Amino acid sequence: MNRRPFIAGNWKMYKTGQQAVQTAANLAGLCSNLTDRDIMIAPTNLSLPLVARAIKNTEVKLGAQNLHFEKQGAFTGEVSADMIKDAGGEYVLIGHSERRQYFGETDALVCQKIKAALGSGLKPVFCIGETEEQREQGNTYLILDKQVSDGLKGFGLEQLSSLVLAYEPVWAIGTGKTASIEQVAEVHQHLRSLLEKLFSKDLADRTRIVYGGSVKPENVKELMGIEDVDGALVGGASLDAKKFINIIKYNEKGI
Ligand code: PEP
Repeated sequence: MNRRPFIAGNWKMYKTGQQAVQTAANLAGLCSNLTDRDIMIAPTNLSLPLVARAIKNTEVKLGAQNLHFEKQGAFTGEVSADMIKDAGGEYVLIGHSERRQYFGETDALVCQKIKAALGSGLKPVFCIGETEEQREQGNTYLILDKQVSDGLKGFGLEQLSSLVLAYEPVWAIGTGKTASIEQVAEVHQHLRSLLEKLFSKDLADRTRIVYGGSVKPENVKELMGIEDVDGALVGGASLDAKKFINIIKYNEKGI
């Protein structure tokens, strides 16, 4: 199955508006002929409208890092799916491990957020991953299966066509430790089978499953060579346009 590669940058709580615009514009310039893959950057919410303007009519798409599941209301400090859409967002990260770890996000909350994103026409990038302790205890699949089945509970096949699933082992995020090729291959294959079991073979075949966790120019080619890896979610190495382009162009010679 030919799935369109998806390479995304999560800029977390880095970059002021001006810095985000500068990096986004640089990146867009470097991506001008890359029409065979989806490229996305997720700056902070404050920078969304500015970056949207900077990448308009380029190959770079915009995403947010989080959203609130309600459409509107008295939720101080929060931002809704419609607001992200209005600011030019097309994608939204949901369930990132930093949200789960530092903001107490549960699988049930993640499910509500996916529903809100889909309801407003945003494409969810649904992040899952086990901690080091969970892996060491042999619970990797127990955790991942629960995250996927609870996060996608109640959805019909037709609703999930825009979903991107991001496998990000927590122990590999921002640590410089990448999961081994064997570990990534095994988990991605497992996740595709799980999607088939929960939904259908067709959905499992079409859904892009991307890897995240210390992806860099030096390891991206090997990771992208794995059959069930359809892209990358990149944190640290996406902050610099020159570095990130070497990840985005993972299949070009000499990189
Ligand atoms: C991330 O934040 O999703 C991530 C994968 O970070 P890093 O690439 O820095 O490990």
